[in-house]
Amino acid sequence: MIATRRKAVAVRIGTVTVGGAAPIVVQSMTNTDTADVESTTRQIRELAEAGSEIVRVTVNNDESAAAVPLIRDRLLAADCDVPLIGDFHFNGHKLLAANPACAEALAKYRINPGNVGRGSKRDPQFAAMIETACRYRKPVRIGVNWGSLDQDLLTRMMDENSRLPEPQDALEVLREATVVSALASAARAEELGLAHDAIVISSKVSGVQDLIAIYRSLAARCDYPLHLGLTEAGMGPKGIVSSTAAISVLLQEGIGDTIRVSLTPEPGGDRSQEVRVCQEILQSLGLRAFMPRVVACPGCGRTTSSYFQELAQSIQEHVRRRMPEWQQNHVGAETMTVAVMGCVVNGPGESKHANIGISLPGTGERPVAPVYEDGEKTVTLRGERIAEEFQELVERYVARHYPRREA
Ligand code: SF4
Repeated sequence: MIATRRKAVAVRIGTVTVGGAAPIVVQSMTNTDTADVESTTRQIRELAEAGSEIVRVTVNNDESAAAVPLIRDRLLAADCDVPLIGDFHFNGHKLLAANPACAEALAKYRINPGNVGRGSKRDPQFAAMIETACRYRKPVRIGVNWGSLDQDLLTRMMDENSRLPEPQDALEVLREATVVSALASAARAEELGLAHDAIVISSKVSGVQDLIAIYRSLAARCDYPLHLGLTEAGMGPKGIVSSTAAISVLLQEGIGDTIRVSLTPEPGGDRSQEVRVCQEILQSLGLRAFMPRVVACPGCGRTTSSYFQELAQSIQEHVRRRMPEWQQNHVGAETMTVAVMGCVVNGPGESKHANIGISLPGTGERPVAPVYEDGEKTVTLRGERIAEEFQELVERYVARHYPRREA
């Protein structure tokens, strides 16, 4: 059973709350040049329409900082109020000071303590960013990444470890350094005047077991909301599976208030895939519902034609296409389960467990497809239009069972 969620303070980020009793929030990040207002606005809208509740953008130079308020205004004009997070490295203190409209337009600043400056520059540059956050009343994510871990801190901790009678494994010290970097930076931000409930923490690494160990430690040592994500997860199935493995273990233990799946898209690929994977993780764990669940068997030697795959795909696409309208007008449609099964072996049984299900004829079976609603067989479809007729039955089921919201 899923563990009781760890208690974290609630942090308000624009129109969204992270932590407290708020649902676990889905985040994403653009990969356009932020200075390109048009393409960045377009991608943010795509991500938000796919379900990203917070979107992060790179702010790496004056051009991108100047673009942020323009992007925010275009989004608002298009009725999109998704909070924008500015991702700062190396020069964030200068950019925020020189671009007050950017500092105002952003809903949160992401600060990487390993990239705010080295040596004597580090503390004043970190302080300058926190002071800006205080002035504009913006929350901050202290976002550690072990690819850019504070090297002064790591060297000091490694040296201290080597002087111990029984030194720890170097990996343990590295893990601890990512935790210490996040917690010490958060404590310093509070000393500088940032409110306790204006801080979110992340400490991202690229190894699944490392991530789990680090977040267990963070969860035990603070009550800041935690942003989960495996960094540099990679492409395709590898990125999806490793992110899902790491994030799911932590969510199952009640750890995590917001998530991002950092996938490398295929060239020209759809950036919104990372949003859909986040939603699938949360929905398959039973933590949130975004979309009716389509249960389809994998098919086997009993489904030798492509008809079964085509029907499963058409239902999946129908549900995805119709969900925005259902969401507006039908309370709870996202909790529905639709079964599309390939033959009589598991078809009737699985279809009876679903809200509505269809059991297609396998090879050698009579060419009929019984439909079940709420465990009862209601009709048998046959002929060329099984896919269309089943979609119509799903529509009627939604209209009957998830009544239209009162205006
Ligand atoms: S339900 Fe039938 S077609 Fe689907 S995997 Fe099982 S045996 Fe194969």
